[in-house]
Amino acid sequence: MTPPAKPRPRSAAIFARAQEIFPGGVNSPVRAFRSVGGTPLIIDHASGSRIFDVDGNEYLDFIGSWGPLILGHAHPAVVRAIADQAARGTTFGMTTELEVELAACIQRAMPAMEKLRFVSSGTEAAMSAVRLARAATARNYIVKFNGCYHGHADSFLSEAGSGLATLGIPASPGVPPAIAALTLNIPYNDSRAVEQVFAAHAGEIAAVIVEPIAANMGVVAPEGGFLSDLREITRRAGALLIIDEVITGFRVARGGAQGLLSIEPDLTLLGKIIGGGLPVAAYGGRRDLMDLIAPSGTVYQAGTLSGNPLAMRAGIETLRVVEAPGFYEALAEKSAHFVAGLRRMLAERKYPAQLSAFGSLLTLFFSPERVRDFETAKRADAKRYAAFFWEMMNHGILLAPSQFEAAFVSAAHSIQDLDRTTDACRESLAAVFRN
Ligand SMILES: *Cc1c(COP(=O)(O)O)cnc(C)c1O
Repeated sequence: MTPPAKPRPRSAAIFARAQEIFPGGVNSPVRAFRSVGGTPLIIDHASGSRIFDVDGNEYLDFIGSWGPLILGHAHPAVVRAIADQAARGTTFGMTTELEVELAACIQRAMPAMEKLRFVSSGTEAAMSAVRLARAATARNYIVKFNGCYHGHADSFLSEAGSGLATLGIPASPGVPPAIAALTLNIPYNDSRAVEQVFAAHAGEIAAVIVEPIAANMGVVAPEGGFLSDLREITRRAGALLIIDEVITGFRVARGGAQGLLSIEPDLTLLGKIIGGGLPVAAYGGRRDLMDLIAPSGTVYQAGTLSGNPLAMRAGIETLRVVEAPGFYEALAEKSAHFVAGLRRMLAERKYPAQLSAFGSLLTLFFSPERVRDFETAKRADAKRYAAFFWEMMNHGILLAPSQFEAAFVSAAHSIQDLDRTTDACRESLAAVFRN
């Protein structure tokens, strides 16, 4: 079904060398294009909404580095800030005012982050928050939803989204069964399953961790009542609610999903956008909980490059741009225009495909039925998605090389970019459904 892709000899040669060195040729699994086949892109550079491979091909980029690039690639203010900071020193292993500044930007947008700690990846933020939840409650179990992804720490690698969904890995070998048993996996959007798991493990559950808008099994919005049920059930049971806003934070609104949907988390995870394209993440929330972290408390967590000054500068500049009045309104308007055009086209042709969208996050599921959880997501036709992916590539549009990921609209995408993408989508779908 896969159409012949343009030959990309330099990409192929570099990837051949990479395969000798890195497992699967990559430093993060989805980059290997396993579920769509063919030679992965080897990138040379990028600017705004455009990304260029080493063979000189140009693509309109909807991967956006998997979420961070809400301003597009190489935003001039971010580039200037990084260059300026690089000349002043890249890491000190001591505190800078920049950390306080970035934290203040975050707290202005998300008042629930009463105290926070910067780390270098979403994985670290999630594992640290769970450690804290276990310490604070003196309980060991955590509840996680099938198809949600919270990074690659041991506790999160069963029935997970993102690369595990792409590769069909239900549970990672190497996680001791005793650790895996402490993670209780239940379906997303299923409040009854939450009630049941709390009934079955009364007094034993430290926390529920959730993507408030799931985006790692493809985009799946929370149904009415699901998030407020989580809040109520956890509160009643004395468990913590950890809202993983690594994708949604500063994406769906300045105040994240928690602001938009009025959720009161105990702990929040941030990443991706807050680093402006450099490695930053954070966990934070209730002051009494965060004060349990060392050195105020005894829950240990540390990092050589935590609060890295280059990364802080990139984050500060990014959050400054998104703080400007009208930023999210403009992004929402542009995304709504894009989504409406795609929906109109899908409705005209009556294809068995569903556009699942939340603001600037979208996934086209190759499925005749509405997707509301991991079970329904997995029924989507990943082979047809692969064919669609290559058709779009041949039109110069770069989507995630997996059915189970989001496409990201950024401030750098113009209306012309988006209309061109809708046209490419129309032609690509015609080709894919003809075969
Ligand atoms: C990307 C992601 C993570 C993990 O972040 P890394 O920086 O890749 O470790 C955690 N949670 C969610 C919701 C994510 O999308």
